[in-house]
Amino acid sequence: MARTALITHPDCVKHEISPGHPEQPARIGAVLDALKNSGMLNSLKQIEAVEAEKSHLTLVHPEAYVQGIFDAAPDSGSVQLDADTAMNEHSLRAALLAAGAAIQSVDLILAGEVDNSFCCLRPPGHHAEKTTAMGFCFFGSVAIAAHYALQQSGIEKVAIIDFDVHHGNGTEDLVADNQQVFFCSSFQYPLYPGKYGKNISGRRVNIPLDAGTDGATFQLKMQTECLPALKEFKPDMIFISAGFDAHQDDPLGGLNLLEEDFAWITTELKTIADDHSGGRIVSVLEGGYNLAALGRSALAHVKALSA
Ligand SMILES: [Zn+2]
Repeated sequence: MARTALITHPDCVKHEISPGHPEQPARIGAVLDALKNSGMLNSLKQIEAVEAEKSHLTLVHPEAYVQGIFDAAPDSGSVQLDADTAMNEHSLRAALLAAGAAIQSVDLILAGEVDNSFCCLRPPGHHAEKTTAMGFCFFGSVAIAAHYALQQSGIEKVAIIDFDVHHGNGTEDLVADNQQVFFCSSFQYPLYPGKYGKNISGRRVNIPLDAGTDGATFQLKMQTECLPALKEFKPDMIFISAGFDAHQDDPLGGLNLLEEDFAWITTELKTIADDHSGGRIVSVLEGGYNLAALGRSALAHVKALSA
């Protein structure tokens, strides 16, 4: 059994883009209820998130962008940053908690307190580019934590695997020049954000999937295009952008993955982490918009992490 941390914070439920928006506060409760009802909550090391520092955010975002988000955050009401990304008075704190949890995960794992960690917070982060908030995202939590990890002794190379139905364009932008980072994103294409970068031998693997792709094809693609390159890269720590909107019941995506596919990829990544990365995995919640499917999928993911 691995020792798995569950990091969350009730304040990330106060952030709301707009009433009825799919990236809704109830997503967090859906995941926590699924973990609770399965009886596995008590086997996790439950930790309250703390906010990331500005100096963490500027590991990947320019200072002017970070300050711009702080300045944009309203005291009341709502501020629209892009067509589908808005802030209320709680959004800045929620985004800082989401990034902070990923950083805490690195610290907890390197201190030997847990083997891996699941960060159950919102907003997600993988669409936030260096200078652009977009796609429900403000700060690139997973890329921030990956760069933070690279500052720690013994961590020379890290990998980020993103299986959200949407391409992790923000993460790709934030890690673009960094040869110490392996990045693989599997995603439906065409679909938002409608773009992805070129593959780079040994460290950048983009896997576009046609609408309707099922678990068998997803597994085959990951087995042939992602996992061998990841094994060869031998990361010292693996990060997961755990979006569950590739589930067949998701209203925003058109892929047909099931809970067992999320369990499968998690187990594969865990095996590679055990072989090459001292078992170290930081998983960060990204998308997932059908509450029931999100709960079941996240439960399958966390079960595999803690197996
Ligand atoms: Zn998504």
